[in-house]
Amino acid sequence: MLAINDLNAWYGQTQALFDVTLTVETGQTVALVGTNGAGKTTLVRSILGLVRSTGTIQFDGAELSTVPPHRRSRKHGMSVVPEGRGMLNSLTVQENLELGYRRLSAQDRDFIERSFPRLSRRLAEKVSNLSGGEQQMVALCRAFIRRPKFLILDEPSLGLAPIVVDDVYSQLREAWSSGTTLLVEQDVERARQASDVMFFIAAGHILGTARSSDKAEVDRMTRAAFMDSS
Ligand code: ATP
Repeated sequence: MLAINDLNAWYGQTQALFDVTLTVETGQTVALVGTNGAGKTTLVRSILGLVRSTGTIQFDGAELSTVPPHRRSRKHGMSVVPEGRGMLNSLTVQENLELGYRRLSAQDRDFIERSFPRLSRRLAEKVSNLSGGEQQMVALCRAFIRRPKFLILDEPSLGLAPIVVDDVYSQLREAWSSGTTLLVEQDVERARQASDVMFFIAAGHILGTARSSDKAEVDRMTRAAFMDSS
């Protein structure tokens, strides 16, 4: 379980998060939704220790702020699919999958063949030759083969055509069985369908939360969180 309490975060003198409190129960998918600049990525960066923050971030009872950033994800079994996918374009699909991990095992290859058949045929291809949707699949696959206890997905639909986003989300449902996920999304309806609970963020403040199955409450919170956008 991930428990964030009274999190405040800054870029220099500018405060980006204000007293954020949020919990992801084991096995749950929690969606964090809000407009551009609301603070979603800053929350992800705070979990990873990449911005200056105060407050507590506990994972399975252990305080993360005392763990150096480069050890947080590995030590606590977290996998992150960052906004923009974090892919090295000049490397092959396989090299990207193995980056900071190990050579793919027979078990990894079986998993890739079953869950990402299109990728398994293109392991030797440079990532730069893949479409945006395929690159997002590599990013997901890279996270899944590490068998994380906890998965963080930062805007998996960003920059993809709707039909490709469908693919990404169905892949997520099929290949990611172990649960516990923090999903950061701007697309409220996608986030709702993929999650159990939703948190709404605007201007660095959590405005409220809703059960994803409670469409009326989700609509009400969405209006509040997106009111000032565009
Ligand atoms: P997006 O969907 O555009 O990624 P977001 O909800 O993830 O939006 P953040 O990227 O977390 O929003 O930004 C929150 C606030 O922090 C914004 O006001 C943004 O301008 C500011 N901010 C983000 N990154 C930096 C940075 N590196 N330096 C200074 N301010 C930043």
